[in-house]
Amino acid sequence: MIDVLDFDRRNIWHPYASLANPPPVRHAVSASGLEITLSDGRRLIDAVSSWWCVAHGHNHPAITEAIRRQSSSMCHVMFGGFTHTPAAELAERLAAICPDGLDKVFFADSGSIAVEVAVKMATQYQHAKGRVRRTKMLALKGGYHGDTACAMALSDPDGMHVLFAGMMPRHFFVSKPNSLAFEAWREELSRMFSEHGDEIAGVVCEPIFQAANAMDFYGGEYLKELRLICDEHDALLVFDEIAAGLYRTGPLWAASLAGVAPDVMTIGKALTGGHITLAATVASSRVADVISSGEPSAFMHGPTYMANPLACAAACASLDLFAASDYSDKVARIESGLREGLEPCRSLDNVADVRVMGAVGVLEMKRLPARNDIERVIDETGVWLRPFANFIYAMPPLVTDGASLTRITRAIAKLAECPPGPEVSGDFHE
Ligand SMILES: *Cc1c(COP(=O)(O)O)cnc(C)c1O
Repeated sequence: MIDVLDFDRRNIWHPYASLANPPPVRHAVSASGLEITLSDGRRLIDAVSSWWCVAHGHNHPAITEAIRRQSSSMCHVMFGGFTHTPAAELAERLAAICPDGLDKVFFADSGSIAVEVAVKMATQYQHAKGRVRRTKMLALKGGYHGDTACAMALSDPDGMHVLFAGMMPRHFFVSKPNSLAFEAWREELSRMFSEHGDEIAGVVCEPIFQAANAMDFYGGEYLKELRLICDEHDALLVFDEIAAGLYRTGPLWAASLAGVAPDVMTIGKALTGGHITLAATVASSRVADVISSGEPSAFMHGPTYMANPLACAAACASLDLFAASDYSDKVARIESGLREGLEPCRSLDNVADVRVMGAVGVLEMKRLPARNDIERVIDETGVWLRPFANFIYAMPPLVTDGASLTRITRAIAKLAECPPGPEVSGDFHE
């Protein structure tokens, strides 16, 4: 039998990991509810929802059953020239829950691709209006939009993608929200548009919650301002709800806290409840009409596995679960549990800030503990944590019960009490 860990260490790349000096990985054999089971029988509570997507718990029976049922009739068919019930049902569900007027759906195979698609929509929108020079986006510093070239180019310009600066398209950035006074930020935004408005096709941001880069929250007034300036200049406003949406920050969509609707929205991560990859880019009819009136009228994107039926069936089941009970209430309970458990960490020497919103709890550290301490605390507490940059955080499944949440916050507190580790570079990613 293959020695999984040994073969893996020698031959398989892991996310943001070196093959020469690979960080430890654990051999997962099954997952159910809040827990991941390892090959040696140990179980870990998944405090990061496997990168924020396992909203209803691992291997939820309703979702695995939907995948099984769909697989018995059709696992895949090309979306060029065909459609199918799971895609139509999912698009209908998405149109029903997206902000008013957003009802035209493009299915993408991952969050990064959904962002690329949104950017192409903005460009084709301007092109159709004869503004062929408007091919750039404006984004917020401190953001993260994915790892493919176009999505990287919209992520924080000083962040983890600096190495690729030479190959990426160049876009415009305004300061991270809260990094300066709101009025000064507003002036910067307005200056950007007066100087470069004839090049800007659209604005993209993570509403309310800047996740993988900054792990920070900001107020709805920024989104209101972006809406105003986009209207003024006929630039498309794109909200990337891939991390913040589907109740992670409290409401169904984070942007609803600002009462602002975008022209285009990207959805991913928890869409299938973390069971299989799928994302969507949803546009307003107005955007679709303009693109369709252009030359070409076709929207120019089409991935091989577009609208994969298994993934669409999983997403339908996941959205049914979101609709079947009060997730805002579940998240409110998690929020108070995180606050209660993490707030005391504020007094620790190595903790710079404590931030909680919805089912997101973040300790910003002066410096992360050493790798050995991180591994030891995970093993001793049975809580899977994935600290990165200078953040220790929890983004647990939205169905996490009180006792498990206490275990999670205790594990985080224990880790935060460890001495600061050495300065690390390159360990940027969530
Ligand atoms: C994770 C993430 C993405 C990228 O999604 P992938 O599925 O990893 O490609 C894009 N935007 C935001 C806000 C994300 O958190």
